[in-house]
Amino acid sequence: MLISIIVPCYNEQEVIQITHNRLVSVLEGITPQYELIYVDDGSQDETANQLRQLQQKEQQVKVVLLSRNFGHQMAVTAGLDHVSGDAIVLIDADLQDPPEVIKEMVNRWYEGYDVAYGVRTDRQGETPFKLWSAKAFYRIMNRLSDVSIPLDTGDFRLMDRRVVEALKMMPERDRFLRGMVSWVGFRQVAVPYQRSPRLAGVSKYPLFKMIRFAADGILSFSLVPLRVAIWAGLFTVALSIIGIIYALFVRLFTMSWVPGWTISFIAILFIGGIQLIFLGVIGEYIGRIYREDKRRPLYLVREKLGFGSHQQNGCV
Ligand code: UDP
Ligand code: MG
Repeated sequence: MLISIIVPCYNEQEVIQITHNRLVSVLEGITPQYELIYVDDGSQDETANQLRQLQQKEQQVKVVLLSRNFGHQMAVTAGLDHVSGDAIVLIDADLQDPPEVIKEMVNRWYEGYDVAYGVRTDRQGETPFKLWSAKAFYRIMNRLSDVSIPLDTGDFRLMDRRVVEALKMMPERDRFLRGMVSWVGFRQVAVPYQRSPRLAGVSKYPLFKMIRFAADGILSFSLVPLRVAIWAGLFTVALSIIGIIYALFVRLFTMSWVPGWTISFIAILFIGGIQLIFLGVIGEYIGRIYREDKRRPLYLVREKLGFGSHQQNGCV
């Protein structure tokens, strides 16, 4: 039984070594059979060099260097494409998710579960706004989307090989892994843990990226925004019909029909506004279809280290 750990790293020079030591000491306590796959997501600092050194010292370490920054979800995807383990664990490089929890996840896996996902019971060292927005996001997401995503989960989780094979069959560009893992099904179980503050360095998810990420989650797992457009359209049409009847009535049966200017003006504005909003919604989906249709690779690999005879440069 081989356990693979995937660690996406983007400008994590301050924490790599510490994280590595913690991971190794936890893993040694579980099984000698493990591999650590570090994916460097185009870091601009010393991360890549540090990973090289790690890899030279320890044969359990494998490194995938991406050609540029592709984002957290793509880095994890690259990792998934390179694992050979029977169980695969995703964990952040900043030790916000305590590696000690892996042991419990592995126990769950031995019990026969295919996915053991971490649920944060407590998050220290985050701003109240981040806590609030994350909470709101998971609740809105579940209201809107077709699959239910467990509340307060991140990507910290253990997955059986079968689940990873299923994920690999999902070539979509707008990747929202925790949603995808819910979608594939299998037997899943929650493992509660406390989320610690970042060990060092800064969060790579500023507000803007968080909003993008949330939009990816909602738009790729839900058609509700499109359906809202239909309902809003119907509602507007109903209102307009009342308005038309009223206008006709005033025009035909009363003498005071000249100042109807106001209502037509309002109607034009209102309908125009609604249409613009939903053209935007539709545009968003079309943009996604377009991007999907280009069939570009999800990420490009600059170099691979520690993959034996498969070691090569170039694209995947
Ligand atoms: N990360 C990455 N590429 C990016 C941004 C982040 O590989 O473009 C990695 C980062 O190194 C870390 C993990 O994804 O291991 C989570 O990022 P971070 O801790 O900054 O997010 P937060 O915990 O603040 O949501
Ligand atoms: Mg973090």
